[in-house]
Amino acid sequence: MIEPLIPAANSKVILIVDDDSTMRGMTQLALHQSGFIVVTASDGSEALEKVAQQKIDCIVTDIVMPKMNGIELCSMIRVLPGGNRIQILIMTGLDDLESIQKACAAGANDFASKGFHPSLLVERVRYLLRNQDLQDTLHQSEQRLNYAERLASVGHWERTINGTTQAISPTVCKFLDNKNISEITWDYLCDHTHPDDVPYLKANMEHAIKNFSNFQLEHRYISNKGALRILRHQGEFNRDANGNWIIYSTVQDVTENRVQEERIRFLAFKDPLTELPNRAAAIRDLARLLDYHKDDNSLVAVLAICLDDFNRITGSLGQDASDTVLKAVSDILRKQIRDPLQDLTNNDDPKEALLIAHSEGEKFICIVNHLKFTEAASAIAKRIQRAISAPIKVADMELQLTASIGISLCPNDTQDAHQLLDNAFTALLHACDHKNACQLFSDDLNHAARQRLSLEVELVRAMENQEFELFYQPRLNLSDNSIRGAEALVRWRHPQRGIIGPSEFILLLEEMGLIGKVGNQVINMAAQQAALWQRTIDPDFRVSFNVSPLQFGLVDLVTEIDAAVKRTGAQHTNLEMEVTESALMSDPEQVISILRALRNRGLRIAMDDFGTGFSSLGMLRDMPVDILKIDRSFVKDIGVTATGSAMVNAILVMARALNLKCVAEGVEMDTQLHFLTHNHCNEAQGYLLAKPMTAQHLEHWIKQWRQEKINAA
Ligand code: C2E
Ligand code: CA
Ligand code: CA
Repeated sequence: MIEPLIPAANSKVILIVDDDSTMRGMTQLALHQSGFIVVTASDGSEALEKVAQQKIDCIVTDIVMPKMNGIELCSMIRVLPGGNRIQILIMTGLDDLESIQKACAAGANDFASKGFHPSLLVERVRYLLRNQDLQDTLHQSEQRLNYAERLASVGHWERTINGTTQAISPTVCKFLDNKNISEITWDYLCDHTHPDDVPYLKANMEHAIKNFSNFQLEHRYISNKGALRILRHQGEFNRDANGNWIIYSTVQDVTENRVQEERIRFLAFKDPLTELPNRAAAIRDLARLLDYHKDDNSLVAVLAICLDDFNRITGSLGQDASDTVLKAVSDILRKQIRDPLQDLTNNDDPKEALLIAHSEGEKFICIVNHLKFTEAASAIAKRIQRAISAPIKVADMELQLTASIGISLCPNDTQDAHQLLDNAFTALLHACDHKNACQLFSDDLNHAARQRLSLEVELVRAMENQEFELFYQPRLNLSDNSIRGAEALVRWRHPQRGIIGPSEFILLLEEMGLIGKVGNQVINMAAQQAALWQRTIDPDFRVSFNVSPLQFGLVDLVTEIDAAVKRTGAQHTNLEMEVTESALMSDPEQVISILRALRNRGLRIAMDDFGTGFSSLGMLRDMPVDILKIDRSFVKDIGVTATGSAMVNAILVMARALNLKCVAEGVEMDTQLHFLTHNHCNEAQGYLLAKPMTAQHLEHWIKQWRQEKINAA
């Protein structure tokens, strides 16, 4: 309900128009004494000037005047903007019926005879003004109603049972292509409704009319320009003043609401990047499917799929490229979805997936039903792996991906949707360890998962109890056979299990977010050792330590290293930091600036596992590094295959061109060492020389090495 407004200023302005100054004066006095503001004019044209100058609420005018008479004045006023609002009272002779008729036709509101007592005239004027106020209020209410309707995208429509419009608000006209009231009928609406919705619309309206019952309808309206709107009608029946049944309804444009609702539904159950159903949708559909299959003896398989080494793609090619890859893989997987019309009864071993979903990151879910054997699930997994391994074009490159897959089966493993999915992901964890592998779920895996959990608990304790220590592997300088440094490799001295290597816990520490703290312990231990060996072994002796790419984001490496150097009395120049290319993954600019800062302090940067990532020459140019560590996988092929040796040589040549030093890792054989020396590799490290050992052992080992050298000379 819209309340009337209280008018701001109350004093009304009356214009008296008369060429007779006595009459004018008397009327003026009476109106003035009654509280009105009065202005006067002696004929029609002067009156028009006054109207143009100020707001006039009511005109009291004589008819017969020299320049412009009262009737002409009336007509002129009515065509002025806002002129309709002005009340006009005509003063006539008693018997002048003809003039009265003309004045009314020209738009006068009322008339009074010239002999009228002034106080009665005042009442007439009051009556006219009250009338105007009422009209104003009504007009304002209508305007506000229109405004509110427009804002709420809702209007109203009154029509007869035959469908003829009695009244309609401008908002509804706007919804219906701005047609005017005479054109809008129920039939018009039906003609412009989406053909699929017409039977529903007509049947519901007929039912409502038959029972005079309230109704709510929603349908699609097609505008003349072809745009689709969703209109909602809510109505009831009532009799009008003449006793005829009228349908009163509101009409609302709910297009935007429906679009939003659709979007919310979409977001709740679809992954926005790949537009595949998400994990929640997969669980929902899986639960329904398991229920559907609970009494037949076919199998339902859940395949958890993960792209191997995906963070390398993100790291070297960036987020956009990895999004492109995820979309491409989604398209590949989508093709594995079964044609819903496929005749299952005639097919003994339907292979196609029922549903493909995007779980998160590089992980997908595939659900298959109607399987007769466990092997069928493995066969599907193999096919999916083959499909994924087809080259994918990203920017100017062709990538070849592999995927690991974990499989869980219903009813073999469980009949619960959540558990089935969890089991598939547990199996996936194991498949991922081997890459491009496929792993069926078994209870043993669950046992392994529990073991992992207890390992996590132990790792927290290990960190608090300082159970981590560093082993050192010496690095041989190939130009003069001297030992100039060693790589620090972390070990876990487990109270019961003894020494444990990093492959068993680094990944877990990374996943647990603890790698920052353990990494700091490593930095401190390495600095401590560097400070000591700089005095006891060689002032230029270098200790290199490894950092995980995640450390760049978890701790302030520059501050940590500065503090460790200060605390231990080491020099930055006695330290070397080994980073892998994937360190550039998340925030290359930040990493590069950290590396620069450290390098400016004299600390050397080594690119670890060089050649195994997606490193490009461009990246090597941008990354502030001093040393390339040639990965063991290349060194292993020296002398074994022709390309193996050529590859290592190519890296050495390139490194020289870029002014970088090279360290070969994993040197196990004399042939490798000879090749490396011959091709001017700077340093070598590997079991041929020594395995990683405790600090004490290394000191002893170096003494021995020096002694043997002296003896040999
Ligand atoms: P990496 O940095 O590439 O270290 C070289 C690995 O190769 C070491 O394994 C070393 O023991 C092994 N190795 C050395 N020479 C030979 C050889 O001739 N033959 C063979 N087969 N292997 C050789 P380890 O100590 O098990 O370390 C494995 C990885 O764990 C390291 O690879 C490194 O990535 C990581 N890691 C080690 N210590 C740390 C650490 O303090 N922090 C972090 N974040 N990672 C570490
Ligand atoms: Ca290393
Ligand atoms: Ca390495």
